[in-house]
Amino acid sequence: MKYYDKLVFELSKEGRRGFSLPENTFPSAAPLPAQLSRESALELPEVSEPDVVRHYTNLSQMNFGVDTGFYPLGSCTMKYNPKINEEVAALQGFADLHPLMHAGLTKGALKVYQEMGKALAAITGMYAFTFDPCAGAHGELTGLMIMRQYHMGRGDLARTKVIVPDSAHGTNPASAAVCGLEVVEVKSLENGRIDVEALKALLGPDIAGIMMTNPNTLGLFETQIEEIASLVHGCGGLLYYDGANMNPLMGVVRPGDMGFDIMHLNLHKTFSTPHGGGGPGSGPVGVAKHLEDCIPDLRVSGFHGNFGVILRAYAYILSLGKEHLRKVGQYAVLSANYIKESLKDVYKLPIEGVCKHEFVFDGLVNDGAREGVPGATTLDVAKRLLDYGFHAPTIYFPLLFHQALMIEPTETESKETIDAFIEVMRKIAAEAAEDPRILHEAPHCTPISRPDETTAARNPILKYQDAR
Ligand SMILES: *Cc1c(COP(=O)(O)O)cnc(C)c1O
Repeated sequence: MKYYDKLVFELSKEGRRGFSLPENTFPSAAPLPAQLSRESALELPEVSEPDVVRHYTNLSQMNFGVDTGFYPLGSCTMKYNPKINEEVAALQGFADLHPLMHAGLTKGALKVYQEMGKALAAITGMYAFTFDPCAGAHGELTGLMIMRQYHMGRGDLARTKVIVPDSAHGTNPASAAVCGLEVVEVKSLENGRIDVEALKALLGPDIAGIMMTNPNTLGLFETQIEEIASLVHGCGGLLYYDGANMNPLMGVVRPGDMGFDIMHLNLHKTFSTPHGGGGPGSGPVGVAKHLEDCIPDLRVSGFHGNFGVILRAYAYILSLGKEHLRKVGQYAVLSANYIKESLKDVYKLPIEGVCKHEFVFDGLVNDGAREGVPGATTLDVAKRLLDYGFHAPTIYFPLLFHQALMIEPTETESKETIDAFIEVMRKIAAEAAEDPRILHEAPHCTPISRPDETTAARNPILKYQDAR
């Protein structure tokens, strides 16, 4: 362990301080009640300002983020977060607002909600948006509550089932279940699209609606969407659009025009606001005109959602403008197809053809398996990428393939970065073919190699533990 790897508690030295406070000159008119005062001093590390700064700076460097490198995480759209967004969100007039302030003092913020609602309606073809939901999954739950409210409002109480494709993001069936709806799965065809014949067999008076994303999680456009929409509407159901995959569509195709009635957007994906370890989310929900009345009484968060995130996304939309928003998807699609075509001789491509913003490989063509040595898996490839300074793609999702490796490059990466990624992916494939053992033990160059992920999730250690 390097000296600087020590934690602040280990660096603590009695009496050392990183601050000084002025003397308290207030008379203690109201002394603290005895039962509220501490019996013994709080055990805090006693350290200097440089100790604290180095501690947090070193910790930050043990992590990976879009500001440190390429992050091709499929389905999650880890695009670069422009710094102008941060400047706008930090403007004093916005940063100093409080949600309980008098409405007369918050007109600027209200205007942002209004303008943002108009922009998102124009981009998606929806009629109105609510900004309360604080994440994509939160938006799904809100959207399904609207769907349920719509049916119940018409006295149609038998509609308790929601159809979800087998390629769907895990949050879709989970949100339906949380909303008290029963999930019915519809299978995909060999070509990765919904099996419309199988869908027809599921439709009936018990169907509340269908949840879909288009392009789906394989990055493939559901070409029969118009037929699907008219079938679902024909049986009395509604169409919910999971807008986390909106990146390739902005300015090109609108879910509203495809026939969707309700949708959410992930501002923290498509609209470039930080997420993952980097910041909170926002999952605004839009509805078609005939559902407008189902929105207003819903309150799914404390105040009005994550305003700071909405502001950042608004800054993003304004800084790109109509003409450049359209290019986002075009470049994202170009980058994804370029990577796919450049690697498909060494990674198995289960579904040929043009993809949208992302695509899925099904492991290595030659995993190097030999007598007594198992082949390199998708997990091994992902771990090895970390040694070369790239974040891993999404792995083992969607569940349709055993060795799924889902890559989404986004439009914010240069050709040089993408070429470097392709070169490294090819190098890893060659390493696997030669001797997969180097991959089994990767990563070799990160602060932590392979944590036991199951134990880490089931029994997380969330508090400082004295290592002395
Ligand atoms: C990310 C994602 C979600 C969930 O969004 P969160 O903000 O993580 O809750 C839902 N569907 C798809 C396709 C996604 O990629």
